[in-house]
Amino acid sequence: MLDARQSAIWKAMGLGPEWILRAEEDPSVPVRGVPKAIEAPAAPAAEATPQPRPVAPAPRVSRVSRASVTAPSQPVHASPITQAPRRAAQAVSPTVSSSMPAAVLPDHAASGWDSVKFFSQVTDGTWDQLKALLPDCHGCGLSETRTRTVFADGAPGCPIVMVGEAPGAEEDLQGKPFVGKSGQLLTKALESVGLQRGKDIAIINVLKCRPPHNRDPKPEEVAVCRHFLDRQLQLLAPKVLVLMGRPAASAVLGTDQAISRLRGKLFEIEVAGKKVPVIVTYHPSYLLRNLADKEKCWHDLLFVKRTLKEAEAA
Ligand code: SF4
Repeated sequence: MLDARQSAIWKAMGLGPEWILRAEEDPSVPVRGVPKAIEAPAAPAAEATPQPRPVAPAPRVSRVSRASVTAPSQPVHASPITQAPRRAAQAVSPTVSSSMPAAVLPDHAASGWDSVKFFSQVTDGTWDQLKALLPDCHGCGLSETRTRTVFADGAPGCPIVMVGEAPGAEEDLQGKPFVGKSGQLLTKALESVGLQRGKDIAIINVLKCRPPHNRDPKPEEVAVCRHFLDRQLQLLAPKVLVLMGRPAASAVLGTDQAISRLRGKLFEIEVAGKKVPVIVTYHPSYLLRNLADKEKCWHDLLFVKRTLKEAEAA
């Protein structure tokens, strides 16, 4: 049974009392009798998540060699390695793999901005240096429309790293990720499974500047901003990486599959020479529009906890 505090959190998340019995699916809760297998989620008929475009260099963006950068700046092979524990067994082909596109430099000759020098500092920077460099970034056109850059919530030492798409209006004003309505929902969802932002979880975005009117990130923006994303992942050294929404999954796993097809599986990427388990779930802004899928997100977060436990025990 839930205690009063847990009940309040569940109520705030909009979770019905019928969820109480499903606490048995959390391995941290003793299970009586034969555990019930979790059915693979049915794909939503029409997913409202913004459709990401495949990440590819834009015509005015040149690909450069970044020999001094270790994975994931180099192409990263990401493969689903297993289904979520307790799910109905379903073979996932080990040959299915995709590469994380490499970071590129903008055409600094056209922009008059020394991107080579700037991004070489990013590539070799410490966490604090990266944070200090970010407001000076003019790597893409979003620097002209942003109010503030948005670096991260959390720091190296957090075992779980969650990656979203880009700052929204509130994040653009405050300079912090996930502080708007979707961020509040995310915080409650994490609390409902006993995870704390800033302690257990560090949160970053693929893009560090808000796209106007919250439009989808453009492939060339993602490709340039990847310098920051790659270095952040290296420095954060997550034990478990969680990708929220299709743009984040596309940027890190190099896939444009729907979240409904990606969630419930365990992927793996290499970060600074270490293999990191990757889990995909819905972006909280999608959940705000699709309340029925909150339950799936809750299962995903329990999956994250189990995966962290296994990673820490390994
Ligand atoms: S979105 Fe990324 S690459 Fe573009 S200006 Fe902001 S920090 Fe630089």
